[in-house]
Amino acid sequence: MTNTCEAFLMDDPRKAYEHIDKHAVVVDLYGSSAFGHDLYVWDEGYRNLLYCPLCDAYILKQRSEYHGMEDDDYYTDYFPVSGSKEAAELNLYLDGYAIEQKFPRRYLMKTNHRFSWSPHPKEGPDGETAASESLPEDDDAHP
Ligand SMILES: [Zn+2]
Repeated sequence: MTNTCEAFLMDDPRKAYEHIDKHAVVVDLYGSSAFGHDLYVWDEGYRNLLYCPLCDAYILKQRSEYHGMEDDDYYTDYFPVSGSKEAAELNLYLDGYAIEQKFPRRYLMKTNHRFSWSPHPKEGPDGETAASESLPEDDDAHP
């Protein structure tokens, strides 16, 4: 039985990021490519395996950079994984774009300095329940 870092159970993606930033440490480096595909999206990036000692849980981090005309954009995804075995399978089967589309659980996204949760993954063949119960986005819209 493996644990999930409690960051992924939080409602507020910023608090989730703060938890990971404060507690998680890098335990493995996967670099920028593996098995003939990139482990990032856009122009450059890499994947690391993080470990949260507070939760005894692992997190796969994907860092991507987009080279703009004046400013670069930075995209970082945090995927809750069971350990290095699942991370290795994700590296093998899913490149930088595919993991963002196909990762089966909710994950944390940091875009420059903004934080958000991934679109709620569909559950089951109809996916209707998951879609209709996705996060209420109006709650934090400009008060
Ligand atoms: Zn944790």
